[in-house]
Amino acid sequence: MPPEQFLTERMLGRLARWLRLLGLDAPLIDRPPAKIPPGAVLLTRRRALAGRPGVIVMGADRMEEQLAQVMRELRLQPDRARLLSRCLDCNLPVHHISREEAAGLVADHTLNTASSFTRCRRCGKVYWPGSHGQRARVLLEEILANIPATGFD
Ligand SMILES: [Zn+2]
Repeated sequence: MPPEQFLTERMLGRLARWLRLLGLDAPLIDRPPAKIPPGAVLLTRRRALAGRPGVIVMGADRMEEQLAQVMRELRLQPDRARLLSRCLDCNLPVHHISREEAAGLVADHTLNTASSFTRCRRCGKVYWPGSHGQRARVLLEEILANIPATGFD
């Protein structure tokens, strides 16, 4: 089981968006909490916090390496069923909408070609497989390369 929450310092905002893309609860925080709640981990760049329980100090500048470090240290196995299940901006779970509901919210080409749609209740943003762009897809494939396939399209 992954931690229930990934408290992510604001300066690691790109990392937080990628954790959300994997369906993980990754709220941004302005400063580390005095005590890390049970089930949570703190992702920070503050070396002074190294060694404390529940704290992962990011060593690298590149988001890809940070993500790899988090997954390695927590032995995370991303769950394909949870991919794209959270709004990248709001960190809230998104809900499925029908093609009819997506009409007018996405470009016609997307409406006709995407296999499914989800939407954030807070900001209204619509997601579909591929909506995160080619680069995201390539990185996702690298992340997923070692995970048993369970039908993610
Ligand atoms: Zn949102």
